[in-house]
Amino acid sequence: MNGGTPVRRERFPSWPRVAQNDEDGLLEVLRGGRWNRMGGKFVIRFEEMYAKLTGARHCLAVANGTSALITALDGLDVNAGDEVIVPPYTFVATVNAVLLRGALPVFADIDLETFQMDPKRVEPALTDRTTAIIPVHMAGTPADLDAITAIGRRRRVPVIEDACQAHLAEWRGKKVGTLGTAGCFSFQGSKNLNSGEGGAVLTNDDAVLERCYSFHNNGRSRVTGNAAFGYQHNGANLRLTEFQGALLISQMSRLEEQSKRRDENAAYLTSMLSQVPGIKPARWPEGATRSAWHLYMFRYDKAAFAGAPRSSFLKAMSAEGIPCSSGYQPLNKEPFIQNILGSRGFKRLFSEASLKGWREKNECPMNDRLCTEAVWFTQTMLLGTRADMEQIVEAVKKVQAQAHTLKA
Ligand SMILES: *Cc1c(COP(=O)(O)O)cnc(C)c1O
Repeated sequence: MNGGTPVRRERFPSWPRVAQNDEDGLLEVLRGGRWNRMGGKFVIRFEEMYAKLTGARHCLAVANGTSALITALDGLDVNAGDEVIVPPYTFVATVNAVLLRGALPVFADIDLETFQMDPKRVEPALTDRTTAIIPVHMAGTPADLDAITAIGRRRRVPVIEDACQAHLAEWRGKKVGTLGTAGCFSFQGSKNLNSGEGGAVLTNDDAVLERCYSFHNNGRSRVTGNAAFGYQHNGANLRLTEFQGALLISQMSRLEEQSKRRDENAAYLTSMLSQVPGIKPARWPEGATRSAWHLYMFRYDKAAFAGAPRSSFLKAMSAEGIPCSSGYQPLNKEPFIQNILGSRGFKRLFSEASLKGWREKNECPMNDRLCTEAVWFTQTMLLGTRADMEQIVEAVKKVQAQAHTLKA
């Protein structure tokens, strides 16, 4: 940034990775002429494979992660007028899915050390209208599932895991997405398993599976399928196509190998970066045994960087050839949420007193602080070599050494 030689000029690995089996699968679907899941074999095969991989009893493929959440909410009978507990540190889709059901998202603050939903903030947020708790496995690292599922059991509120970033992540050796009543995944283009768009709901509950299947298929049952115009339920068309099913099967053949590489690179980054003053990598909640490393996140303390604000740190890192970002803004303060809560429909569903109470309680000070301190690297950088990781560390140290030259 000051005119010297950058640490690196090469790009980090590109995403997605494409191989021969991707082409073979897509061509087979194309030539076979069955592009819809009805009568096809790819989506159903993917569902079987993903259930086996995760240890779930059932997997239902859907159009994307947002529709996975909406489908799971419907599957658990979460409806207009209900309340759902969500963390504020997540992608907007977690909140949108709740709002699209006509339900009220109630924010439980995060833990500043782990960046994950703080179980201690969940219990006080529950009311007699709460019909689901949605922990998000942020960055692919499990949220505290012991504590959150215990609250769910005690208060008889189902837990829906938002595992959209957390393919192959584990809690005490079990795959996330299988520990709540339902688990939701995304296969959107940036995610660690990718078919452009795509999603899935996992559940061990037969009745929830039937209801989710029906909801995602215009209310038709799994048994009668598309042939019948008899409906057991309201629903939508949220089906995955055979093209995406084929692509997920071939992409999945490389998922474990890619995840191992991210594991190794992230472990190295943590061992090195936690020694740098002012860099605090996100800690795992006790009980997390594997992260998907969809993102590598840490907090930046400007005091250790001559007072240089985070924005200067990000710019300097980019100038050194290391792309990084500042991540999410405080979601609970988004004006669009205030707008919808002020809409005619929501005012009919929720009393003035309850909306006033929501506004008064809608404070997440830990999240506010995290949003000013967080720095992210993407999962594709973690697919690089050890030498790539060494350059990331070198750049952080170099920026720190020159921090006094950065604008405060
Ligand atoms: C990506 C993502 C979603 C939504 O998935 P789409 O496939 O983009 O609809 C939901 N929640 C989280 C945490 C995500 O990262």
